[in-house]
Amino acid sequence: MNTHASYQQLLRQSGLARIDAQVLLLHVCQQSRAWLIAHGDDPALSEHASAFAALAQRRRHGEPVAYLVGEREFFGRSFRVTPDVLIPRPDTELLVELALARAAKGARIVDLGTGSGCIPVTLHCERPDLAVSAVDVSPAALAVARENASRLGAKVAFAQSDWYTALARQVFDIIVSNPPYIEQHDPHLAQGDLRFEPRGALTDEGDGLIHLRRIVAGAPVHLQPGGWLLLEHGFDQGEACRQLLAEAGFTQIATCRDLGDNDRVTLGQLVHPEDCPR
Ligand code: GLN
Repeated sequence: MNTHASYQQLLRQSGLARIDAQVLLLHVCQQSRAWLIAHGDDPALSEHASAFAALAQRRRHGEPVAYLVGEREFFGRSFRVTPDVLIPRPDTELLVELALARAAKGARIVDLGTGSGCIPVTLHCERPDLAVSAVDVSPAALAVARENASRLGAKVAFAQSDWYTALARQVFDIIVSNPPYIEQHDPHLAQGDLRFEPRGALTDEGDGLIHLRRIVAGAPVHLQPGGWLLLEHGFDQGEACRQLLAEAGFTQIATCRDLGDNDRVTLGQLVHPEDCPR
């Protein structure tokens, strides 16, 4: 082992994808990319080299970079993440954008199954006029979400709740959720980052629609007439979600595609009871 390796040599020798190696090294050194450009050929400090070697080893065993560095960027902001929460995905930015586009001034929005809190915190940072709430069944996840809200200065009312159970008679203008929608035998659960994420945040241990059904079924009671429900789901669940929304009395139902051109978010508007055909 060359103890006088330069920072660039450490990156090359790590056996990791270059971007992963760079993120881990910059985390260890607490430096920016610009610093690496200026100092890449300097001999690495030994404490940097050893801390980087330890993280690189964990990464080679598959641990997600986001858990190793404790953060992930979402909608241009850095969120703290731990193995208690799902790692925020770029796909979910679509859900946030669609919600923002439908939120009137002062709208009340709730995020069901908030995990890291990336959705409600982003909503309030983007639009401080919104009254944002968020729930999660996991106290450990809520602790992470609260930390993110306080770090980013977002005002979010958090509560521990199994979907709607703790929301009593609260009514919202918009309900959003990125629930666990992966089918229990989906091979992706045993691959990549997903192996290290909370299983309960990924799968419903059933057909993938169990939580989506519960969220749709409970939504009319908690939505203002004319309110919106927006659901993130799997690439092959758009049709099922549109049907669930139609059966629950929603209108303006549509499915939107993510950056990878996959069906990703289905939304609908609750009609006024007097307009409802049933
Ligand atoms: N709402 C969080 C996110 O979108 C967590 C979702 C989840 O755990 N299923 O990242």
